[in-house]
Amino acid sequence: MDDRGCWNPILETLPLEKLFDLQLRKFKNILHWSYAHSPFYRRLYKEAGFEPGDVRTLDDVRLVPKVEKSMLRDTQQRDPFPYGDILAVDLEDVTVFRQTSGTTGTPVYHACTWRDWEIYTECWAYILYAQGYRATDRVFVPFGYNIFVAFWGGHYAAEKIGCEVIPGGVLDTAARVLKMQELKCTALMATPTYVLGMAETARNKLGMDVARDLQVRKITCAGEPGASVPATKKRMEEAWGAKVYDHIGATEWGAWSYECQAQPGGLHVNDAFFLIEIEDLETGKPVTEPGKEGKMIITALDQQTKPCIRFDSKDVIRWAGRSCECGRTFRLIDGGVIGRADDITKVKGVLLAPTAIEEVVRSIRELGDEYEVAVSKKGETDDILLKVEVRPGCEGEQSRILTRLKDQLRLKTNLGYRIEVHPFGSLPKYELKAKRFKDLRKKGA
Ligand SMILES: [Zn+2]
Repeated sequence: MDDRGCWNPILETLPLEKLFDLQLRKFKNILHWSYAHSPFYRRLYKEAGFEPGDVRTLDDVRLVPKVEKSMLRDTQQRDPFPYGDILAVDLEDVTVFRQTSGTTGTPVYHACTWRDWEIYTECWAYILYAQGYRATDRVFVPFGYNIFVAFWGGHYAAEKIGCEVIPGGVLDTAARVLKMQELKCTALMATPTYVLGMAETARNKLGMDVARDLQVRKITCAGEPGASVPATKKRMEEAWGAKVYDHIGATEWGAWSYECQAQPGGLHVNDAFFLIEIEDLETGKPVTEPGKEGKMIITALDQQTKPCIRFDSKDVIRWAGRSCECGRTFRLIDGGVIGRADDITKVKGVLLAPTAIEEVVRSIRELGDEYEVAVSKKGETDDILLKVEVRPGCEGEQSRILTRLKDQLRLKTNLGYRIEVHPFGSLPKYELKAKRFKDLRKKGA
């Protein structure tokens, strides 16, 4: 801990060459560990004719077979129940069960020993400390976390820093707002959708202005890319009178990335605990130059229970290639996760990232927070239907608003849209992971 806002000032400011040395050392360790203890990894590597000793440099990492989500699901069908043969520890050493939200299919189970859970929360402590959480904070988490890991990680990390934590499950949204007011909470962790929804509920049901009536001055977002979409971030910051910070994590490997207080337009990668590689979406070749998009291949360097080595995350990111004024040497990715390799899709021959649509919708003040997009096939061509809500009091200007929306969409995404206006408050509101983009051309969508 130090005044510059680093939870671990040594690791977070280590020169890059030393970070790379550390990554290589840790990578070799976890590779040997997994080969020795996890039947799943041993089988995978043997079948590919690969041995852990083949990795001598960081470039050699690319020789290691990748893992993807379907393989984790498959292993759950094997013995021993319920994780299959991927664990690299005895089942009796497992102390925690979590699972993925299942938005992309059958949930994947995740196990931690006490040691791995310590590391999981340690990575979260880097995030919260970088975003200004201190022992003087009272933190509200407006969810029942159940078996989903993210807010458990945030909860324990906030305690580790010394904050006072209030788990706000069970209560409804209005009761949560009132509890935050009563306890003078100073910080909040939630999904972007819910951050906006709470402000709306406070206004409509309680006649409250959360920026004026609550004392929340920092918000950490999870679960959706919104906090890295500038227009959505601005909406949240204005509604709450608070700084809004992004973080990115996943159940299978932990919280690997975070925005610092300098808000440099991107997120730091936690290079001490994770090895991030970027692969070109079409050629699969490594991307090292800044500004070029590709999908992230990630290794959790310290995760021993259910190792995660070269996981094909399908998250699309790009290196920023610049340093941050906060002084951290941990590398920056520009604009957070830009999309999912599965969601970034060709429509009418043009590459479309759903976050680009969000940026446009949320930048138009007269439109509500909710929207939905569906791409379908109309005869020979693709049809994009965008559903939006116009805020009460702005109905008279509807045609002017829609013209602006169409113009901005064409400018930002090079595509034309069919727009439907729905009554304010009628589009689905999401508490956890919003699924606003549907590609109906794909099977099972
Ligand atoms: Zn920074």
